[in-house]
Amino acid sequence: MATALLTHADCLLHVTPEGHPERVARLEHVLHALEGLRLTRVTAPMAAEDDILRIHPASYLADLRQALPKEGFGRIDGDTFLSPGSLDAAFRAAGAAVRAVDLVVSGEVQNAFAAVRPPGHHAETDTAMGFCFFGNAALAAKHALDHHGLARVAVVDFDVHHGNGTQDLLWDEPRTLFISSQQMPLWPGSGRPEEDGVHGQILNLPLPPGSGGVQMKAAYVDQAFPRLRTFKPELIIISAGFDAHQDDPLAELNWSTEDFRWLSRELCALAAELCGGRIVSTLEGGYDLNALAAAAKAHVEELIEAGT
Ligand SMILES: [Zn+2]
Repeated sequence: MATALLTHADCLLHVTPEGHPERVARLEHVLHALEGLRLTRVTAPMAAEDDILRIHPASYLADLRQALPKEGFGRIDGDTFLSPGSLDAAFRAAGAAVRAVDLVVSGEVQNAFAAVRPPGHHAETDTAMGFCFFGNAALAAKHALDHHGLARVAVVDFDVHHGNGTQDLLWDEPRTLFISSQQMPLWPGSGRPEEDGVHGQILNLPLPPGSGGVQMKAAYVDQAFPRLRTFKPELIIISAGFDAHQDDPLAELNWSTEDFRWLSRELCALAAELCGGRIVSTLEGGYDLNALAAAAKAHVEELIEAGT
């Protein structure tokens, strides 16, 4: 079965100030790297407002619309900016995640990758932060549970920064298992093992600065994979950030492109074992353009291989 690639040109309309790491060129480099791969290309729809309201309150959406500038930039916090096209981009990013779930759960494709921005995993219930506005991965999980009636959904976040937003949005959701690996210490500062959710359904895997593939593989093999096998998800959602790469300027982990390939392959193998191979992956961070493009390509090549 096929691998879907979901994206939309609106995701390039979210513009950030000169020098900002989360920039338009990131997505352009990812899409260029994926050219020529055997993918079912899908135009990402905008999420419906009701989709967004599944995870964020109406007051939050109203505040974002209020903050949207007619020109130039609106500023949410020190790192998080809105340009006139930002909410269109954010609605496309969220819509891509929702549509990807529809395609994978219905069996139209084996798995899917949403090449989108802005990213989502730092957006909390009513707080935009860390370049993020809507919790795309958490929304995908809730959509799979509430709309498609799945019983158990796992979210695996390998972005180098803790998925504090996904953790917040899924904090009391017993139908999910949230696993997040992150450099610690590092912004946003959360993600300690004792943060385990209302039902013990959150697993945080902190990794020390300077550590590389050996430590990452140990954390996943010893802790993450056994938890996934125990949980028996019906769908695995991946928050695919590529900023743990050794070339990334925002963090100090030393994963190679082949480490991302290994992790992607192992997650595909687990999905094949546990849930008919069903994976929805959505782009989060990754700020060295060449490393991002290479690691994202390796990730998607493994999705394609798994669906073949
Ligand atoms: Zn990140």
